[in-house]
Amino acid sequence: MKIVEFEKDGSGQRIERMKILEFDGAKEWKPSRPQETGVSLDTRLAVPAALSTGLKMHVLDLGKLRLDKNLIVAHSTIATPREPNPPGQLIDIPMSGYLIEHSDGNILYDTGCHPDWSGPNGRWPSRLQELFPVVSGEECFLPSRLDALGIAPNQIRHVVLSHLHCDHAGCVEYFKKSQIIVHEDEFSSALTRVAVRDQSTAYAPKDLETWSRLDLNWRLIGRTEPDQTIADGVRLLNFGSGHSYGMLGLSVKLRSEPGVLLVSDACYTAENFGPPIRQPGINLDSIGTARTLQRIAALAHETRAQVWFGHDAAQFNQVRKSSEGWYE
Ligand SMILES: [Zn+2]
Repeated sequence: MKIVEFEKDGSGQRIERMKILEFDGAKEWKPSRPQETGVSLDTRLAVPAALSTGLKMHVLDLGKLRLDKNLIVAHSTIATPREPNPPGQLIDIPMSGYLIEHSDGNILYDTGCHPDWSGPNGRWPSRLQELFPVVSGEECFLPSRLDALGIAPNQIRHVVLSHLHCDHAGCVEYFKKSQIIVHEDEFSSALTRVAVRDQSTAYAPKDLETWSRLDLNWRLIGRTEPDQTIADGVRLLNFGSGHSYGMLGLSVKLRSEPGVLLVSDACYTAENFGPPIRQPGINLDSIGTARTLQRIAALAHETRAQVWFGHDAAQFNQVRKSSEGWYE
């Protein structure tokens, strides 16, 4: 895996960015206009030949949630006759998104939560605001993170949503020109749960109500659809049910081994991954979760890829964030 740091690219500026494609309409793609950064056009286009193909992956730090560890690793705290009132463990977990700059069109994996998640008129129901509040600053929300990279929503061709929980799909409404890829079972079940006013899920009804009013370009992945290549080096993994009704992962092949498996909430943390497997506390289908974890382990072994977990603080601390550089 090659890691590029801004301070080591020689220029101190981001002029080595690949040509960004701007999505302008239902089918048509065209190159974006040069950004007004004060760098001459000639200098901007002088990218190394090796970067004119392939991809660059930026890790987006989308803030933190604070919650009881039992929600992440089930049965983390268990009362016993010897210890009838064990102390609970309140932990902070990262939220993440991944921007893949690609010559065939940029891809975004997950979007974090909506900036207006909180308050009496917030997107999240009060139950979720109480259960796992966001404990990070405004700079962490997706619009700010993309803005810092000089990327506008209409420069994203595909938005892949691992699932539709409020901390992953909260910003999808910004991507009105993108193809939004989500598992069909997740899509239909989320709409159903919201319609029947199920209070037990991690969906934000106000998010779904907003999406349904917009003319978003959904691409639903069926239950039996195989894994498929979205762009050269980027493969969509159809995990099916587990943590939620329909989970999607992404395999990203980097120029040098190992590649990365982005698995989101299909596996929250290294502790869930095991072995032995530890089931998550928020879990729709424990058999599906176990099957998915076995599949991820086999795929990682077979392709020598690293597994990047959905909410693992220790792992996320080690990963280079978009403000520091990228992977290619
Ligand atoms: Zn989730």
